[in-house]
Amino acid sequence: MLALAMPHGHEILDGDTRADADGGDAAPDAWQRAAVNAMLFYVESIPEDVQDRLNRLSPFFRLAHSAATLNSYWANHCEHCGTLLGDHELHCEPDGAFMPSNEAAAANIQLQQIQEPFEAVAAGYAFEPEFFGFVRKS
Ligand SMILES: [Zn+2]
Repeated sequence: MLALAMPHGHEILDGDTRADADGGDAAPDAWQRAAVNAMLFYVESIPEDVQDRLNRLSPFFRLAHSAATLNSYWANHCEHCGTLLGDHELHCEPDGAFMPSNEAAAANIQLQQIQEPFEAVAAGYAFEPEFFGFVRKS
């Protein structure tokens, strides 16, 4: 299964004032630098070069329509039956694949850097995910 993470220092354009990532309340149409690492989920668009890289890692991560959210997002699928594996379960439930509750569980997650320009539309944003061993800069 794949998930997308953003490094410390990425920028966010928050179109929704309720989902405030770093406590700022600047105008919603201004890009803001985020001094955090973050996981993205419910990702609706990814640059093509990054899509190609992800597809080489797993063909089971692809844009698909979700009956649960009534829209399409980049979702993991069961490699056996093709069922869409919802981002809510993977990213929002304790012990979901991308919400490890301890370092041992997080150790099952491999971080790979993709050196490509990246811009995405994502409805899900989890900042400073725990246990990942991201490099922290201050
Ligand atoms: Zn299955």
